Amino acid sequence: MKKTLSINSYEKMLDRLYSLIQVRVDKFRRFEQPIAEVINVKNRTIITNFKEIAERLNRDLNELARFFYNDLAISGMIDPNTKQLILFGKFTFERINMSLKYYIKKYLLCPICNSNDTVIIREKKNIFLKCLACGATSSIVE
Ligand SMILES: [Zn+2]
Repeated sequence: MKKTLSINSYEKMLDRLYSLIQVRVDKFRRFEQPIAEVINVKNRTIITNFKEIAERLNRDLNELARFFYNDLAISGMIDPNTKQLILFGKFTFERINMSLKYYIKKYLLCPICNSNDTVIIREKKNIFLKCLACGATSSIVE
């Protein structure tokens, strides 16, 4: 007995394939840079939606906080209750969002396929961006 693939099941297979591809494309397109909500209190700057941003980027709160401290050359802390980021310095909404944009470009988006489905790998003094979508590993120069 010879098994043949009917046109019908072939078309179904193609449909399924296209739907899978579509999901991936949508996933990439859907990523929009989150906007940091910023308030200034005296000489401090608070990112009120810090936790939501870290979740959107799929990054550890401390990792992301460390980036802001370095980029802005200040120290700060994560409020243990609200998980808001308190920066010990006065910065504008524009400046904070510029930093966030820089983080996303450098530490989040895969330079090969532009996916945000990535993880950061630290090995000794080297830091890599591993893309879970295309599998590429790119080194990040700090
Ligand atoms: Zn990639």
